[in-house]
Amino acid sequence: MDEKRKISIIGSTGSIGTQALEVIEKLQDKFEIISLAGGSNVDLLKQQAEKFKPKYIYAAKPISVEGIKTLSSLDEIAENKENDIILVACSGKIGLKPTLKAIENGIDIALANKETLVMAGDIVMKKAKENGVNIIPVDSEHCAIHQCIKDISQVNKLIITASGGPFLHKTVEDMKNATVEQTLKHPRWNMGKKITVDSATLMNKGLEIIEAHHLFGFDYDDIEVVVHPQSIVHSAIEYVDGSVIAQLGLPSMHIPIQYAITYPERYEGIKSRSFSFAEIARLDFEKPDFEKFPTVKLAYKAGKMGGTATACLNAANEEAVFAFLDGKIKLYQIYQITKTIFDNYKIIQNPTIEEIFEEDKNIREQTKKYIENLLNN
Ligand code: NDP
Ligand code: MG
Repeated sequence: MDEKRKISIIGSTGSIGTQALEVIEKLQDKFEIISLAGGSNVDLLKQQAEKFKPKYIYAAKPISVEGIKTLSSLDEIAENKENDIILVACSGKIGLKPTLKAIENGIDIALANKETLVMAGDIVMKKAKENGVNIIPVDSEHCAIHQCIKDISQVNKLIITASGGPFLHKTVEDMKNATVEQTLKHPRWNMGKKITVDSATLMNKGLEIIEAHHLFGFDYDDIEVVVHPQSIVHSAIEYVDGSVIAQLGLPSMHIPIQYAITYPERYEGIKSRSFSFAEIARLDFEKPDFEKFPTVKLAYKAGKMGGTATACLNAANEEAVFAFLDGKIKLYQIYQITKTIFDNYKIIQNPTIEEIFEEDKNIREQTKKYIENLLNN
């Protein structure tokens, strides 16, 4: 990168967003920040704006910082062709619209927000291709696969690793009685609340299978999940000749974030220490227990059905996760609720983006109503 790369971050106040700013701080001479955007943590966004001096800011709540223009929507960030790349690191469905807008404007995407592909992967990937836009995955498993692939036509299958979350070797009974606090204590990764709950139910892996299908164009039968508690092997691919290429590294999101925003260059950046196989000593792998974690099966099913099935899965799951975080339901009910809503859902094939948003809204309302009924009975 000779010239500074012009970047905007949507969700700069979140787990991925703040780590991205740590990466950028280390690589100050490589980046110019065009805009920073957050939701309701206006104090942190202000601090970030004062420190990093972007041209524009946006927050879901009123905000003003001297000398910096406040924008009125995420779309305004996504439409600004000053950007070379936009890091989409907000959580949930709000990532989808600005991602599409940025793609239409020919701006490359570093994509952390997995809901974007789960909701509308077909449309997003098609648009990216039409507009010659790169979508570089930040999610560590997909970033790993992106780094392993040399000739995608010769790859046989994708192997996605899963840490297994906090309940990997706990009993189903333990999981039934899990508190919000226990669920939010992830053994390997420090992440936002929604994705941490998804990691505990393994729905996160389910969403990642769908994400991988869209990013790399693989059939669901050629995407495998393996549990790997140490989170050192971030994922792997198998070539037709049986050769397996994996990407390894210490579990830190700084590495995939930096890879995605500097691609195809590599820099020393924030890397803290050198990797040592001897220090790690052992790597374990095991088959995922789909009986204990049925969410993964449901995600495969939704993915194979296509159309709005995965948008339905995403919306029902997200609302159930919110109800769990609000203390309304138990952890195991997230799956039960999601499955009930999913089983009663009529899929639309080849949906337009408007239909996806409409369905997303309907499913969320249905899920909320269903949860209210559960609570009242
Ligand atoms: P967080 O909950 O930590 O952060 C979410 C971010 O989105 C915050 O900056 C939040 O702002 C912002 N936001 C919320 N509402 C709005 C809005 N209306 N407009 C603009 N910004 C908004 O989540 P994570 O960083 O953990 O995850 C972000 C995405 O990345 C998710 O899709 C997740 O699945 C994915 N991901 C995360 C990983 C991780 O390690 N954390 C790993 C792989 C993928 P505020 O806080 O100010 O309200
Ligand atoms: Mg991941």
